Amino acid sequence: MNTKKKIRRNREKPIQKYRFYVQSAFTLLCIWIGVEFYFFVRYLESNGTVAFYNRPPGAEGFLPISSMMSFFMFLLTGEVHYAHPAGMFIFFAILLVSLVFGKSFCSWLCPVGFLSELVGDAGERFLKKVFKFKLRMPKWLDYPLRSLKYLLLGFFVFSIFFLMSTMAVRAFLDSPYNLSADVKMFYFFANISRTSLIVLSVLFILSIFVRSFWCRFLCPYGALLGILNFISPNKIKRNPISCIDCGLCAKACPASIKVDEVITVLSDECTTCMNCVDACPVEDTLDLFTLLPAKKSFKVNKKWVAIGVVSIFMIVTSIGMFTGHWQNKISKEEYLYLYKNMESFVHPTGPEAMKKLNEETAKEKKAGNWKGVRNK
Ligand code: SF4
Ligand code: SF4
Repeated sequence: MNTKKKIRRNREKPIQKYRFYVQSAFTLLCIWIGVEFYFFVRYLESNGTVAFYNRPPGAEGFLPISSMMSFFMFLLTGEVHYAHPAGMFIFFAILLVSLVFGKSFCSWLCPVGFLSELVGDAGERFLKKVFKFKLRMPKWLDYPLRSLKYLLLGFFVFSIFFLMSTMAVRAFLDSPYNLSADVKMFYFFANISRTSLIVLSVLFILSIFVRSFWCRFLCPYGALLGILNFISPNKIKRNPISCIDCGLCAKACPASIKVDEVITVLSDECTTCMNCVDACPVEDTLDLFTLLPAKKSFKVNKKWVAIGVVSIFMIVTSIGMFTGHWQNKISKEEYLYLYKNMESFVHPTGPEAMKKLNEETAKEKKAGNWKGVRNK
């Protein structure tokens, strides 16, 4: 009797081409935002003598701390803070995308993730060609390094949620430092310091040898989305009955997850990139599943991941636009004022500075003077 398993070939079209298109489109959008922001800064630099160029609100997507604080403020008071409302909606969109489709923001939308992937691919080809090997980080080093991003996230969460009172959060959001944070961020990259350039160059070189070095070990955003990944109902599942143990899925995984050794991928590093699903040669063996109780789980077609990730992001940001919470409420006159005094605005750092901010805001509130820094 022939006991050999009948193998049905996986004929589903790969999704990677479309993922590349989505990543490219979002990266181009970010570049465009950068160009627009440059024209806005030129207006500030000219002290308002050249034609005014509207500030692109999308730039606030690069202010994760301010956006997280605005989101926190929104949860506490229901109020959308006027300084960087687009940042808050982008932050919420990223959280929602990750809650539904795991850490998919990193592999579908994030321009840094896209760049890291391109560098990682080129690095792998280079190492294979020149040194004839693929570098794998040993476990004893990989785990402690991966925890660094959680420590960074823990520091930010502790500083905002535990060290700052609600009034202090508002004081920070109202502060001239926060109001001009987007312009400061622009100059961080436009006039990059020697130290920052060295750090970025080191990260770039490390990414050639270790795939996605920044994303895997240091990005606090990635840490936050990694946590949401565990809560997300959508997970990669392997059918051990039809699996032929070819190991192609594990080989294709950019996060080095041993997909071929588990039934369900439960890793904070899985970015729902669908590389493993594309690589599997057997039909209905490796797929994304929405896990529901009482055996009601169902398979999610690859194309729904693409459509879902983009749609959630677009819908949430559109809500921001259509409810009038996209363009901030800072006038060009205020921006000109902030620009002139920008050098004197500093970030409150460390428990002492937070304590001082808490005390100052509490004192003002008690005296009935609290109107927010902007309205003083
Ligand atoms: S397990 Fe699959 S979906 Fe997750 S990161 Fe690896 S290849 Fe991508
Ligand atoms: S690619 Fe992975 S899941 Fe698919 S048959 Fe090979 S080992 Fe099994």
